[in-house]
Amino acid sequence: MKKNEYLRLHSEVYLTKGKNKSVLVDFNRKRIEYIPNDMYTIINSIIDSNKSIYEFLLYYNSSDCEIIKEYIEYVIDNEFGFITKTPKLFPVEKGLICTNLDITNAIVDIEKMESYNIFDTFDQILELKCPHLEIRFYSPIKMSEIKRVIEYFDNTLLRSLHILIQFNNDVNEISVTKLIESTQKLCSVIISNSPKKSIVEKEYYYIEWTSQPILDETHCGFVHQSYFSMTQKSYLINQEYNSCLYGKISVDKKGMIKNCPSMKSNFGSIKNRNLKEIVENDKLFKKVWYLKKDLINICKSCELRYICSDCRVYLENPNDVYSKPLNCNYVP
Ligand code: SF4
Ligand code: SF4
Repeated sequence: MKKNEYLRLHSEVYLTKGKNKSVLVDFNRKRIEYIPNDMYTIINSIIDSNKSIYEFLLYYNSSDCEIIKEYIEYVIDNEFGFITKTPKLFPVEKGLICTNLDITNAIVDIEKMESYNIFDTFDQILELKCPHLEIRFYSPIKMSEIKRVIEYFDNTLLRSLHILIQFNNDVNEISVTKLIESTQKLCSVIISNSPKKSIVEKEYYYIEWTSQPILDETHCGFVHQSYFSMTQKSYLINQEYNSCLYGKISVDKKGMIKNCPSMKSNFGSIKNRNLKEIVENDKLFKKVWYLKKDLINICKSCELRYICSDCRVYLENPNDVYSKPLNCNYVP
């Protein structure tokens, strides 16, 4: 090692330490690599010390130096990091993300169209400038009616719309594809209770036909690697906030305003309360946003905690708000 060589991780690579092992997460290549905690400690110490590799090795005996060199080689060979002679050009601090406390995503559950005024609810969500909306229809509904709902968002500031619908005679490959291709905002459609199973993934949309009957809000809260959020932005947000509930507002099938439709607690009915007023004035509303993974039992010692999804409803111990999600089988 030359005297002026420094180790740096690529800007989209993050290290997270767990109780028994650590991970290198590369958001650019969507790659997760498990490494021993010793390696985490060494790599982190080299980078944090701001010393050259040569200076760093001076503190270790020759057999330790060999192991440290192997760790460094692993990082370089697998393109998680690089050697530089100009470390000032690559500051170690990857910076905290600038977050705000706006609504970023909403869920609206509909069982009967007449249960509450859904179009007034949509207006209130649009008033919040919420960019992403998921609408879940729990009973079969005509395609023309679904289209009327979807088209309501044309020429609005909404960025993406995702829907869950029930299979019926009106719902077929042609009608669903036509729907998604003819509307501006619709990005994904899940068809529940379908006789066939298939997934269609295109550049701008996603259609899933599933035989699973998703007839209410209880089909939620599953933690699985395929649901992990592999973006740098969410990694940084998840260090500060809850990975599911941050920025979320919901209206359940009965019109009750909640953080998420599966929660028992509510903030009153959409029939007589206003979403904006709750978001801006109700101090309790944003409390769950701060239930970050670092506070959750077991999860706080899991190396996957900043990329993992969370659930604060279906818990191992339903009486403990800090309990691990019930539907996670991973043992950190
Ligand atoms: S908190 Fe759980 S039940 Fe609620 S939306 Fe998130 S994952 Fe689903
Ligand atoms: S233990 Fe917690 S952080 Fe780890 S994978 Fe399971 S839910 Fe996610």
